[in-house]
Amino acid sequence: MIKEIIPKQVYKISFGNLNSNCYLLDYDDRKILIDSCDYKSRQKLIDSFRQLKIESKDINAVLLTHLHFDHSGNAPLFKESKIYASKAEIDSFNENPAKAVSADALLRQEYLIKELKTITMHPLSELDIPGIEVIDVPGHTIGSVAFYLEKERILFTGDTLFKEDGTVRGRTYMQTSVPEKMEKSVKKLMKILESGSCRLCAGHEI
Ligand SMILES: [Zn+2]
Repeated sequence: MIKEIIPKQVYKISFGNLNSNCYLLDYDDRKILIDSCDYKSRQKLIDSFRQLKIESKDINAVLLTHLHFDHSGNAPLFKESKIYASKAEIDSFNENPAKAVSADALLRQEYLIKELKTITMHPLSELDIPGIEVIDVPGHTIGSVAFYLEKERILFTGDTLFKEDGTVRGRTYMQTSVPEKMEKSVKKLMKILESGSCRLCAGHEI
């Protein structure tokens, strides 16, 4: 499903609550994808792009909030784009890919890991797109980040804000979670959200 968050500028692409949302930005002559959904939704994602009359090669940059499989799953589709994640997240993937993508035997993510190893992930410190602020929010994973469009006042929070047990705090029992850092990260995001009319674009429905 495609929803226009800002007409002709920011689109939300989602395939149901169990999957993650990704966001397409048509921004200052660039096309940017924030997260990329689960690879099981690949055909649906390709169909959504077709509906928007966009090809994968039109995407200039893919920005990943973290590398869990339901966010990084289609990044390898964008071979002609620059793909970014935080350095901590890239290091975590290089050290133990299965943990970084949150794979387990049941979910059979070996294929995704193999695919992700074929692409170059650039650290977000190299990102040079004016107007997009990268906010470090470790907790859900060691290198989770949020992205903030200051002018448009939109905050993309990945899984740091996640609805569970009556809270909006992301899960911190994942294999690369850093629970002790979560509170500070959530506070950082809530401060932005509470500072005025700011639109929240989370990784899942919250
Ligand atoms: Zn996650």
